Amino acid sequence: MAQSNVNQLKEIIVVGAGVVGLTTALRIQAQGAYHVTIVAETFPTDPKSIRYTSHWAGAHHVSHAYDDQRQRKIDQDTFNVLWKLSEPGSAAEGCFLRHTQTEYHGDDLANAEWLQYMPDFKYLESHELRDPAKMGFSFSTITMNTPVYLNWLLSRFLANNGTIVRASLQHISQLLERGATPYTGAQLDSGVDALVICAGLGARALGGVEDKDVYPIRGQTVLLRAPWINFGRTMTEADGTYTYTMPRSNGDVLCGGTRVPNDWYFYRLILSSNTQLFLRYPLPRPEITQDILARALKLTPGLAPPQTRLDREPTIEDLRPIIVEPGCGLRPGRKGGIRIEVEWFDAPTRGKVPVVYNYGHSGYGFLSSWGSADMAVDLLEGALKAGAPVEAIPGSGVDRPSDNPGN
Ligand SMILES: Cc1cc2nc3c(=O)[nH]c(=O)nc-3n(C[C@H](O)[C@H](O)[C@H](O)COP(=O)(O)OP(=O)(O)OC[C@H]3O[C@@H](n4cnc5c(N)ncnc54)[C@H](O)[C@@H]3O)c2cc1C
Repeated sequence: MAQSNVNQLKEIIVVGAGVVGLTTALRIQAQGAYHVTIVAETFPTDPKSIRYTSHWAGAHHVSHAYDDQRQRKIDQDTFNVLWKLSEPGSAAEGCFLRHTQTEYHGDDLANAEWLQYMPDFKYLESHELRDPAKMGFSFSTITMNTPVYLNWLLSRFLANNGTIVRASLQHISQLLERGATPYTGAQLDSGVDALVICAGLGARALGGVEDKDVYPIRGQTVLLRAPWINFGRTMTEADGTYTYTMPRSNGDVLCGGTRVPNDWYFYRLILSSNTQLFLRYPLPRPEITQDILARALKLTPGLAPPQTRLDREPTIEDLRPIIVEPGCGLRPGRKGGIRIEVEWFDAPTRGKVPVVYNYGHSGYGFLSSWGSADMAVDLLEGALKAGAPVEAIPGSGVDRPSDNPGN
């Protein structure tokens, strides 16, 4: 970028460095007219933590949009980007595994019409079903090796002249007056032309947003080392039990899952009568790890090491030696689905500043990341072009459809 243009760039701050914040920041940079700063408490380079959902995801692209037209578009637009990024020979290829995904349904799902754009989509013949499925379908898709993919996004952002600032915000007004300057200690006041809030579950508590429609959906997983598995499977049972095995490009397979709304539970280790250790993230519950292993092995018996399968019927004890780690994350659920809206806030010496929201991606933040970023960027550019309405209408913007929990 030519130095002469740098001073003419508008200053945009994105709050959040999960998959949604990073993707949105990249999309804003791609417009060419902005300098973007990401302010976040946690980054992809940090250890896994319960305050950062993106590290815990599978993540595969299996849309749960059903008849929600906005979500269908977001998911399909995202798939198109991810499919391109995963092309053999592309710079990001190593973040992805292209594979065949098979979805089995023992619930009352009649068809998968919203998924028919996926490559190689087909319904299964009855002899191809696995117990207790009554219908099923398969298609080609991708899984992302999420810690690797997140760092790839971050490195692209930095390479595009992006700035990162680590800060735990109490209120968005802490950025509205002087931008990120108070956090960087810079002499020159950077100011800010717009904020974009991609705070995930943090949107529930972040001052100025405090969206009580946002709630956690706890998900527990077990990561196995099983490079002999190169296909994905999901089983949805009549009672809602939901089991998946998601292969990654490095030979690991993420097994799950659980979806428990409003479960903030975490472990405390009581070391003595006056010493307790609060762990950095909720430890997986051992009985759920056991249950996931049993369900995953039933769905994908090939998870057990090949030699074991030659010798005898595998049990979950055969999976224990290949456990990489059990895991647990909190999906940023939201009643009404993803919030993509713009509001105007007063900044004492700057007049009104647009604040664009892009959060509440529940169990589908990766598979909807590029599509929702595009919508947020459209709102951002529209707001900057039009300027503040005389009478700002809080919450004006795109409608809010379903709040399905996704993956
Ligand atoms: C077990 C599991 C499996 C999943 N599988 C899939 C899948 O297969 N496919 C899929 O698409 N999705 C999947 N998901 C969902 C996906 O992980 C989430 O939708 C996604 O990670 C949400 O990203 P995010 O950027 O909104 O939030 P996060 O990753 O949590 O990032 C939020 C960011 O905001 C920052 N922040 C928040 N509050 C503040 C504050 N006050 N001050 C400063 N910074 C703040 C945080 O530090 C962080 O940087 C899964 C989730 C789980 C738990």
